[in-house]
Amino acid sequence: MKAIQMVDLVGQYEKIKPEVDAALQEVISTAAFINGPQVKAFEQELAEYLKVKHVIGCANGTDGLQVAMMALGLKPGDEVITASFTFVATVEVLALLGLVPVFADVLPGTFNLDPADVARKVTPKTKAIVPVHLFGQSADMDAMLAIAREYNLYLVEDACQSIGADHSGANGKRKSGTMGDIGVTSFFPSKNLGCYGDGGALFTNSDELAHKIRRVCNHGSEQRYYHEVVGVNSRLDSLQAAILRIKLRHLDEYARARNSAAAAYDQAFAGIAELTLPERSPFSNHVFHQYTLRVAGGKRDVLKKHLENQGIPSMVYYPVPCHLQHAYKGGRHPQGALPNTEQLAREVLSLPMSTELDAGQLQHITQAVRSFFH
Ligand SMILES: *Cc1c(COP(=O)(O)O)cnc(C)c1O
Repeated sequence: MKAIQMVDLVGQYEKIKPEVDAALQEVISTAAFINGPQVKAFEQELAEYLKVKHVIGCANGTDGLQVAMMALGLKPGDEVITASFTFVATVEVLALLGLVPVFADVLPGTFNLDPADVARKVTPKTKAIVPVHLFGQSADMDAMLAIAREYNLYLVEDACQSIGADHSGANGKRKSGTMGDIGVTSFFPSKNLGCYGDGGALFTNSDELAHKIRRVCNHGSEQRYYHEVVGVNSRLDSLQAAILRIKLRHLDEYARARNSAAAAYDQAFAGIAELTLPERSPFSNHVFHQYTLRVAGGKRDVLKKHLENQGIPSMVYYPVPCHLQHAYKGGRHPQGALPNTEQLAREVLSLPMSTELDAGQLQHITQAVRSFFH
């Protein structure tokens, strides 16, 4: 059996190697490294796939989130409601811009923002909500849109983990990241649509916001050496775009592979009382960026060790919620402020999940988990 990894990027590359190598060679031989035709083509192809009007490439998902806040014109002191149970990038960019992160709790089943708690956290200073579509499933966007409309708030979707997921709501089927004012994704190598380095993109249906996003990404400039606003330098590079064009054609097939691994896990773990399987949301399909179990009875870390001893990696996403991180703690979110978030941090365990898991590997992983409980 091939050694099990959390994500098998080499195995995935080997299947598309001739295409990828040729595309890279072409970019190198034309030296169009920055803003080359591959970037334009990828932005268009991704926009068609997502059925969104504009896709704007940027350097990584974290930049995408920061650029979104800048393009919306948020000002220091403005409050932004988001999840504490997320990767720190979501919160970091708020702090960097002097915005005030206000955390709402998540639902323990889907790990996504609880709309009722989001509504409770709205104050006169609230300017935006940032739902994080965690682990590959969209948050309840109908509820988020309703809150945003009621209080006149911007909605920025952190779709770094959910690219390709469909949300089924009042407006029919829409791709994750295309329902709010701006959506952001990451092409970090291990993400569902990963490149071979750093990369990211913003999505919007607004011509005006698309214009502002492009301007912020380009040093706040439209005409070279004239700067209307403060910007940043954040670009998707042409080599990454060339790789992403190829991988985008496989994205749905990759999601199917992830779903069949998830189905194998579900089947093997059904009936283990100490395990809670990842809940499927009624309004989103799942693209399984992560397959995340909850382990009851304080046994999470022992299970992790047990798997490790059998050559099986697993990860805790996330062991410390943002509101309890040294850099962000204090203020209005003391320990105990977000009970579901804090409980999840103690209980979650993500199993290996990739497009390349084979039957033998899945068998080994499921046996190892089952043997721990029996
Ligand atoms: C990966 C990720 C980011 C950041 O993306 P980078 O490309 O690594 O900067 C932001 N938010 C979430 C939820 C993520 O998973």
